[in-house]
Amino acid sequence: MSYLNHLECTKCSATFEQEKPITVCSKCGGSLLARYDLQAAKGKVTKASFANAMPGMWRYHELLPVNNLEGIATMYEGMTPMMPTVRLGKQLGIPNLLFKNEGMNPTGSFKDRGASVGVSKLKEIGVTDIVMSSSGNAGVAWAAYCARGGLNAHIVLAADSSDCVKAQCWSFGGDIRLNPGGHVANITGELAKANGWFESNTMRDPWRPEGKKTMGFEIAEQLGWKIPDVIVFPTGGGLGIVAMWKAFQELAELGIVEKKQPRFVSVQYEGCAPLVKAFNEGKEVSEPWTDKIDIVPGGMRTAKPYADYLVLRILRETGGQAIAVSKEETYKTWQLISETEALFAGPETATTIAAAQKLRESGFIRESDSVVSIVTATGIKYVPLIHPEFPSV
Ligand SMILES: *Cc1c(COP(=O)(O)O)cnc(C)c1O
Ligand SMILES: [Zn+2]
Repeated sequence: MSYLNHLECTKCSATFEQEKPITVCSKCGGSLLARYDLQAAKGKVTKASFANAMPGMWRYHELLPVNNLEGIATMYEGMTPMMPTVRLGKQLGIPNLLFKNEGMNPTGSFKDRGASVGVSKLKEIGVTDIVMSSSGNAGVAWAAYCARGGLNAHIVLAADSSDCVKAQCWSFGGDIRLNPGGHVANITGELAKANGWFESNTMRDPWRPEGKKTMGFEIAEQLGWKIPDVIVFPTGGGLGIVAMWKAFQELAELGIVEKKQPRFVSVQYEGCAPLVKAFNEGKEVSEPWTDKIDIVPGGMRTAKPYADYLVLRILRETGGQAIAVSKEETYKTWQLISETEALFAGPETATTIAAAQKLRESGFIRESDSVVSIVTATGIKYVPLIHPEFPSV
C-alpha cells in the first residue's frame, strides 16, 4: 500500500489531488512534488519492510505513488551496484569515492526509474498517451516503459540525437518524431493540447522525481543506512538532485536515517552552464543559456532548467556547489575512469570526476569525505562519439 497523499507546489504550496492527470501548478506554474502521509508510515515502513519487499527499486513501493502494484511497468530496474573505487579514488586523494552504476538499468540509464514509476502511475489514473521531448536517454526510457506498460509513446527527439538513441527508440515501436530545432519543450506542449496527450517533461511531470527518488533510497541503504558527505551529479534539468534530496528528507522523517543531506554538487559543461552561472552570481533563478551550446552530446543539454529555483535552493541549503568543466577535461577523464576502474561510463560521469578533482584541489572535498558519483548512463550508448586510433601489427 502506498502512503501517497497529495501533490504540492514547490513555489506557492498549493495542493492538488493525486488521482487526476496534472503536470505543473495551475496557479503559478511551479513544479509539483508528491507528498506522503509519513506520520502514518512511521514505524510501519522500516528497514526490515524494504528488505522483505519485491526486488529492484519497487521494494520502496510504500513510498512510491502507485496504489495497485499489479499493473506496474517494470523490468527490474534499480538496485544498481554501488562500487567502491579501487584506484581512481586514491589517485584523486578521495579514497572513499564510490560509483552508483545506473548504466546497469534496463535501457542503460537512470531515466528508467522515472519512466517505470511515471508510466505506472499515469496508467493507473487513466492516461493512454504520453508525449515528451528528449535529446536522448529519457526518450529511450519512455519509449521502452510505454511499450512495457501498454501505453502509447509520442517521443520528439532532437534531430541531432545520436544514432544509438534513435535505434533504441525505434526498436520499441512508438511514435517517434524528429525536431530539427533541437530539444524544444514547447512543441510537446502544443502536441499535448491538440491531441489530449499527457506531457511528461522534466519537472513538468510530478511522477518522474518519484521514480528517481529511489536512487537516493538505495544510496542510503547500500551505505548501511548512512548518508554520504558529497554527491556529484551531472546536471541537465536537475531532476536527479531534487529527487535524491527528497529521498533523504523522507527517510529522515521516517526515522530511518539521521537528519542529514549530502553536499550536492551540480556539474555542467562550460558550454551550457546556466545553473553554475546563477549559483556564482547569487541568483535564485537561472537565465536561459543563449550562447551556442557546446558540450559532449548527451544528457546535460538544458538551456533553462524548469525547476532551477529548486535546484539552486538545494545546492545552497546543503552547502553544495555548482561547477563547470570543459569538453577536453571530460574526454580525458572519461578514459581515466575506464583505465583505473574498468568502468565504461557515459561522458556525463566523466564530468563529475573532473569536477571532483577540482573540488579536492580547492579543499571543498576533504580526504575523509565519502563521495558518490552517479554513473547516469553506460558508455555503450556513446560509442559513436569515440574514434580510437591504433597502430597496425
Ligand atoms: C538526463 C541525464 C542527465 C541529467 O539529469 P537531470 O536529472 O535532468 O539533471 C545526466 N546524465 C544522463 C546520462 C542523462 O540521461
Ligand atoms: Zn503554485
